[in-house]
Amino acid sequence: MSIENIQDDFNLSIWEQAQYTADLCIKCNICTSHCPVHRVTDLFPGPKFVGPQAQRFRSPHEISVDESLDYCSGCGVCTMVCPHGVKVMEMNAKARAKLYRRKSIPWRNRLLGRSELLGMLGSPFAPLANFMFTNPFIRWLTEQVMGIHRHAPMPLFSWETFRGWYRGVHQKSGRRLVSDKKVVFFHGCSANYYEPHVGKAAVAVLEHNGFEVIVPKQVCCGLPMLSNAEFDAARKNACKNIKSLVKYARQGYKIVGASTSCTLSLKSDYRHILDIDTEDARLVAHQTYDISEFLLELAEAGQLKTDFQPLPVSLPYHLPCQLRAHNMGLPAIDLMELIPGVIIKHVQADCCGIAGTYGYKKEKYQIAMDVGRPLFDQIKQSGSAVAICDSETCRWQIAHATGVKMIHPVELLAQAYGLAYGKGGWDV
Ligand code: SF4
Ligand code: SF4
Ligand code: SF4
Repeated sequence: MSIENIQDDFNLSIWEQAQYTADLCIKCNICTSHCPVHRVTDLFPGPKFVGPQAQRFRSPHEISVDESLDYCSGCGVCTMVCPHGVKVMEMNAKARAKLYRRKSIPWRNRLLGRSELLGMLGSPFAPLANFMFTNPFIRWLTEQVMGIHRHAPMPLFSWETFRGWYRGVHQKSGRRLVSDKKVVFFHGCSANYYEPHVGKAAVAVLEHNGFEVIVPKQVCCGLPMLSNAEFDAARKNACKNIKSLVKYARQGYKIVGASTSCTLSLKSDYRHILDIDTEDARLVAHQTYDISEFLLELAEAGQLKTDFQPLPVSLPYHLPCQLRAHNMGLPAIDLMELIPGVIIKHVQADCCGIAGTYGYKKEKYQIAMDVGRPLFDQIKQSGSAVAICDSETCRWQIAHATGVKMIHPVELLAQAYGLAYGKGGWDV
């Protein structure tokens, strides 16, 4: 096939596309000028250098020798801005995997990749675990022993998990909606162990719109493992999720998630990065929606309830990079602006810097904070006490850097509908 068709040929994995698109690079340097990491540190020579330029000297069996690659955060800005369709971020991810095959993955990275295991261990002992994670001495010790930065924005564990609430309190309360209209909810690790109020808000909004919410068996989407170069472990999780979700997808149910990274994994990464291109994976991908995307589609079809109470607020909104990779526009903004009185100010800054687990690492914490500085400054200058973002790790990083209360768009909707959804309540 011709090189021009490579980017659009869905029979090629992203890895194969990455390899072939190196030859499309015309060395214009646009990617390097937009790279948020290169902008703040000399430790990273930039996407053009470690991407297409280095790729030409790699063979599939040769291990990359460029250790500076490890400073790429994987934000994907380079791939998005390249005018020639070069898959720079994907090229870097593959080369990084090779690098770690040579020098083995540090156990700190393995631990950070296991958000579900951390949640399962920490959640039942939430008060103690939260005391430990907020104690300055223990954080200093963790930095010395494990290499997790003492100021990194560790989320607090919730004693009540989302699944526990759904199967216990919600189910037994008799308030759980049973309906012919059904939707499947993929809660992910964050809503389950750290922010159940986001999952509860999603359930409240979906039920308010007449949907019975099914919460199927699921495991961590695998993205934290993937971003720490643990492809085999991520693949195992992906296969478990596909097996569980495909039963519902076959019945035509839509799968909705309130975490942009989880939904991106289901929609795209399983197939394009983990190479699981089965019929089941394609069906799950086809049926998966970000919650704002799903609700906006309802609104456009005239099926979304609009009994919103007016909220006279003007709130900053950060668009997470993973959401850009969904290629679905800005559904959260369009949706929130359906609420009378709400004005959403889209903050014009690329990245908050945290990039999943990148900003937790001792050697990268300051880079992540410097990357996010323009975003933090704009949010602080807005003077708002509340800001909005669809991605949990971005919310934690922005709250840590600015002191502003961060919420998910679905929480604003739940509030405007006047729905009670637990402790996540806030005042605008
Ligand atoms: S990868 Fe794309 S943006 Fe970067 S130098 Fe090459 S052509 Fe330009
Ligand atoms: S993925 Fe982000 S950090 Fe990595 S090279 Fe591209 S723009 Fe830079
Ligand atoms: S951390 Fe947030 S802003 Fe940064 S790369 Fe990830 S999604 Fe984008």
